[in-house]
Amino acid sequence: MSRRWWGWVLVLVVALAGAPASAASPDAGRSDAGLADAGRSDAGVRNRPVDDPYRPIGARPYLDVLRYRLHLKWDPRTRDFSGRAVIDLRVTRPRSSVVLDLASWLVVDSARVAGRRVAVTRPRDRVRVPMGPLDRGAHRRIVLRYHGPLRSDTLAIDGPDPLTLGVVTDRAGNVGTGSQPWGSYTWFPVNDRPYDKARYDVTITARGGLVGVSNGRLVERRSWGGTTRTRFRPGAPLSSYAAQFAVGDYTSQTLRGPHGLPIVVWSRPGAQPEKRYLRRAPSLLRWVERRLGRYPFGQAGVVLTPLVTGMEHQSAISMGEGGWPSREVFLATLVHEFVHEWAGNRTTPTTWPDLFLSEGIATYLEGVWKARRGITPMRASVRQWRAADTWVRDRYGTTGFCGPWKGRRICGLSGPYTTGALLMHALHRRYGADFDAALRAWPRTHPGGVDRAAFVDYVSRRLGPEAGELVEARLALGS
Ligand SMILES: [Zn+2]
Repeated sequence: MSRRWWGWVLVLVVALAGAPASAASPDAGRSDAGLADAGRSDAGVRNRPVDDPYRPIGARPYLDVLRYRLHLKWDPRTRDFSGRAVIDLRVTRPRSSVVLDLASWLVVDSARVAGRRVAVTRPRDRVRVPMGPLDRGAHRRIVLRYHGPLRSDTLAIDGPDPLTLGVVTDRAGNVGTGSQPWGSYTWFPVNDRPYDKARYDVTITARGGLVGVSNGRLVERRSWGGTTRTRFRPGAPLSSYAAQFAVGDYTSQTLRGPHGLPIVVWSRPGAQPEKRYLRRAPSLLRWVERRLGRYPFGQAGVVLTPLVTGMEHQSAISMGEGGWPSREVFLATLVHEFVHEWAGNRTTPTTWPDLFLSEGIATYLEGVWKARRGITPMRASVRQWRAADTWVRDRYGTTGFCGPWKGRRICGLSGPYTTGALLMHALHRRYGADFDAALRAWPRTHPGGVDRAAFVDYVSRRLGPEAGELVEARLALGS
């Protein structure tokens, strides 16, 4: 997500007690799948559940969703929304029930487990599904039908505005999504945690002349009487925060990226300047490829939406339509979101305290691009990052990750951006081309989930133990 969305010095304080504050989350789902197969690989489908110290509604360290098959229906005139979710999962501990996230205002009409009808209960923003006795490693299919209003949730923050979570709509019935750090539970039942990457297959039936868009390849499209049904299948597993759900009067156009990569642009009628700006998308992707290796998926995409500023929905990035102060700001943000396809979507933070691994790399390379383009010198970007970082540290005594603070749990949301970017910059200054080469190989060698320990281990092996110490020192609480 871009800083424009999160804000420069957005600091989230989650006042919770009881749960562990450290991110003890060894690498989940890492595999050695070759990059050539990345688009079709299973890297990330089977994940080791971990407790996320930042997720405020309870631990779920037993659940691994393998696939979501979603059928969503939206009528912009009546505002009727309904869904059917077919969820294939496994449990990594013996269980008699499974809990998924689902907004309280969505009504569950029916639930089936392995074909048998069951009665669910609804703790706040969750759905508890009785499963019968499940042994460790057991697989089950849950089918849930639900309906209700499409609306966002909010998260209280220590800043000027609460953070909007999940699905957003406008009066015309356009739909957009911004679910970082979470929020997909506002449109489907989900294990809404970044470690749990899964396969998706999303069918959207939109009335009123609108067209639904989701992640990955469009595999089916049918229209009748003002209704359009589209079906999307991403080529690789994704985390729920990167799941796309956009509806509008969209048409698509395919640009050719590096080595023939299709870049599918979804836009609405009208001569928005952003459509022209997107002609630069192929060269921007080539620029990122030189820094991070070959694009990790079989298709790239951008959805121009009036509802979301910039968000790294996997292979279907959301970019705001309108409101950009300049072409340069739009393109710099697009570079940031493109970087997330490698750092965020291919290589994914296992828990939110590991977010500096995606936002730090994206912010750093955005800064490098702006310096190379002559837009902002690197020293000016570094000054900005340092000022924001200092503000957060002075105020909260912590920065790039979540930790205990005066008896509460705190997560400095600007910290992952600024501390992470300063960290990458420091590594580059110290190790030069060796760091650049290590950064380039990081996404290829680390598909699936990664955490702080994995990064420290990686840079220590590539650059020497002092590099790992540098990372730890930069991230140290109160440093
Ligand atoms: Zn970002």
